[in-house]
Amino acid sequence: MIGGFVLTTLIGYYLLDSLAKLLNLKSLETQVPSEFSDVFDENRYRRSQEYTRTNTWFDLVVSTTMLATLLAFWFLGGFESLDHLIRRLHLSNVLPGLLYLGALCVARETLMLPFTIYHTFVIEQRYGFNRTTVGTFVVDRLKEWSLSALLMGGFASIVLILFEFFGLRAWIAAWICTAAISVILIYLAPTVILPFFFKFSPVPAGELRDQVTDFCLRQRFPIRELLVIDGSRRSSKANAFFTGFGPNKRIALYDTLINNHTVPELLAVLAHEVGHFKKHHIIQHFVFGQFNLLLLFLGASFCISRPELFEAFGVTTPSYYVGLALYLILIRPPALLLSIFINFWSRQHEFEADRFAAEALGDPIPLIQALKRLSKDSLSNLTPHPLLVGLHFTHPPVLARVLALKISAGSRSRANTAPT
Ligand SMILES: [Zn+2]
Repeated sequence: MIGGFVLTTLIGYYLLDSLAKLLNLKSLETQVPSEFSDVFDENRYRRSQEYTRTNTWFDLVVSTTMLATLLAFWFLGGFESLDHLIRRLHLSNVLPGLLYLGALCVARETLMLPFTIYHTFVIEQRYGFNRTTVGTFVVDRLKEWSLSALLMGGFASIVLILFEFFGLRAWIAAWICTAAISVILIYLAPTVILPFFFKFSPVPAGELRDQVTDFCLRQRFPIRELLVIDGSRRSSKANAFFTGFGPNKRIALYDTLINNHTVPELLAVLAHEVGHFKKHHIIQHFVFGQFNLLLLFLGASFCISRPELFEAFGVTTPSYYVGLALYLILIRPPALLLSIFINFWSRQHEFEADRFAAEALGDPIPLIQALKRLSKDSLSNLTPHPLLVGLHFTHPPVLARVLALKISAGSRSRANTAPT
């Protein structure tokens, strides 16, 4: 029963996702949408479509391989054999659990590695985005793996110890620990984790610095630092983000963003990010995320010791650690459904932050120009299929954002000139 449910939903979602990708390829249009004719010439537009095609086929190969491997591992008795192998070592406490979960993570990483190498050094290289050298790539992976081993290993140990000690009542303690760890990570990420990978330096004195400081003062939005990140060492794609909470907020702009945009455009991108704070999007997502985790652990307390779960995956000796691994597969279908809702919610927040930026600056044009230039520089697909948008997009398609900005600017100027 459980096995049938998981199998049907995993394959069902895979088929829906593949259909969305194929429909997306069909919805590529040969003509540049008129809204973008000032930034995309025909050559650039053709290239953006080739990039979408290449990435779509690549994604299809990856998702097919991942699903086929999971099903093969399941039906060839992989979950049971791995448990047998570990039990033969006669380890105690949380070690068998750490080894079991660790082995599954390592297997997944090993399977993904050739795809990551191909994507970085073949696809991104071909389209002129890759700036990563083999040396940086290797060092990045080593840092990423050691950091994950440390963080995930520590986290898994705490959860396993709690379940061993408190049994199925551990869910509330596991949730409190996870919430505490995630708050600590939010504080540590900008000062400890990100500098492992990127070099941060203050934005030098000048027009950009003055304008940003002035804007943040006007918006009563205190920031601790305005930083530039050496993103160009890895990719030519641009980005910007905020880190930290309360008075500890830092704004980080990629050097690629600063180099390719005018100061008004950079200010508009930044105003959009400030909009996420002012409209309380960050805190809403955080609280919702914690609520999700609470449900996840509550669900775990119901499921991880049920004999039907072990039977469905062919495991003969129940344990908390195998139960946890199987539970994470069991909840994948509902988690995918939930992500559709979260993506929809996130797209609404993007529209809201765009509106905030246009109103705060009194002009939507710099943000529209920034969005168009970003989509040209990153070869974005300008006409994605609605099914693909619904399943995966955390941001609305650029064309929809530009049109929404124009409509709200139009209605604002009409309201300002209306007789009172
Ligand atoms: Zn945003």
